[in-house]
Amino acid sequence: MIDIADIKRQAETRRDDLVAIRRDIHRNPELAFAENRTAGVIADRLEKLGMEVQTGVAKTGVVGLLRGSRPGKTVLYRADIDALPILEQVDAEYTSRTQGVMHACGHDGHVAIGLTVAEMLAGKRNDFAGNVKFVFQPAEEVVSGAKPMIDAGVMAGVDVALGIHLGNDEPVGSIALKSGPAMANVDSIKLTVRGKGGHGSQPEKAIDSVMAACQLVNTLQTIVSREVAPMESGVLSFGTIHGGFASNIIAPEVVLEGTVRSFLPEVRELMIKRIEEIAVGLGKALRCEVKFEVVYSCPAVVNNSEMTDFVRTSATQILGKDKIIESREMMGSDDMSLFLQAVPGCYFFVGSGRTDGKSFPHHHPGFDIEEESLVIGTQVMTKAVLDYLAQN
Ligand SMILES: [Zn+2]
Ligand SMILES: [Zn+2]
Repeated sequence: MIDIADIKRQAETRRDDLVAIRRDIHRNPELAFAENRTAGVIADRLEKLGMEVQTGVAKTGVVGLLRGSRPGKTVLYRADIDALPILEQVDAEYTSRTQGVMHACGHDGHVAIGLTVAEMLAGKRNDFAGNVKFVFQPAEEVVSGAKPMIDAGVMAGVDVALGIHLGNDEPVGSIALKSGPAMANVDSIKLTVRGKGGHGSQPEKAIDSVMAACQLVNTLQTIVSREVAPMESGVLSFGTIHGGFASNIIAPEVVLEGTVRSFLPEVRELMIKRIEEIAVGLGKALRCEVKFEVVYSCPAVVNNSEMTDFVRTSATQILGKDKIIESREMMGSDDMSLFLQAVPGCYFFVGSGRTDGKSFPHHHPGFDIEEESLVIGTQVMTKAVLDYLAQN
């Protein structure tokens, strides 16, 4: 029997330590694939718990394997560890000491929760069968850390995967989850529109790449409005447009960069295919040459329905039914999706919205979490892992 009161109490007694870990990581943020100090802190703590620890996985990733008292299933618990290139505006004793680098997404909290769940489960290793593989992943913010970890073999022997993300959109004390597609497919595109430069007074002697680029931005939106089914979702946003030299010179070249997001693989495929066809075809009609490039970033986060039900039940027993939010899909992305492509699992949000009403969105220079969310995350994750291992 899993003692719910014991899990709650044990997480609560670790509140100060959770906060201390989170603040230490917050003060010392590190960018993607440069999480050397962070990885050192993680590896030290996991080693002290007597785990089999691997460092340098996908450069700065750390993997710790905790074995229960007898053989059984293996749960992979993934926590991401990297920070963002943002100049922090939060004025606190734990403000970043590295100018221009900030934990503005809550990954500092993910480290604290991951290490504390590791400690709690290590203390209970004689009580469960099976294994827990703690995967501390670098470079989530550039959606580049999961793939090399998987290529390095972290999925070996893994049955299911779990992960959490702190969420400032949800109130502290709650969790939010969704079965099926939960976060988006995301890809980056780049269009280089080449015309012919000339004098602004003589358009007949030039080929205007700015005019073609404007047409493209507008026409490409018809993919979302006219080609993606109304009940499905897709979004195309151009974030940059660069070209030209002066007001009276017709620009020979314009470069556009955008993000393409969706939930279904078929919508992802359709959008990328049609962007290329329209861009190249419309460019041609306007006498421009268009070069299309795509960088496939990561697929949608798709939660397995049984595992989502599983987490919902575990979390309900800890928090109560009224604290479970059935969330909608969001167009954000996360390379947790790659672990969930390999095995069934669930990635869910732990509410970290501030009670003082000063919640800033993730990736904002004023972003800060309500630290009680660290206790909640630890309780729910510990319970979910133990419940899963107890059933299998
Ligand atoms: Zn982020
Ligand atoms: Zn994040």
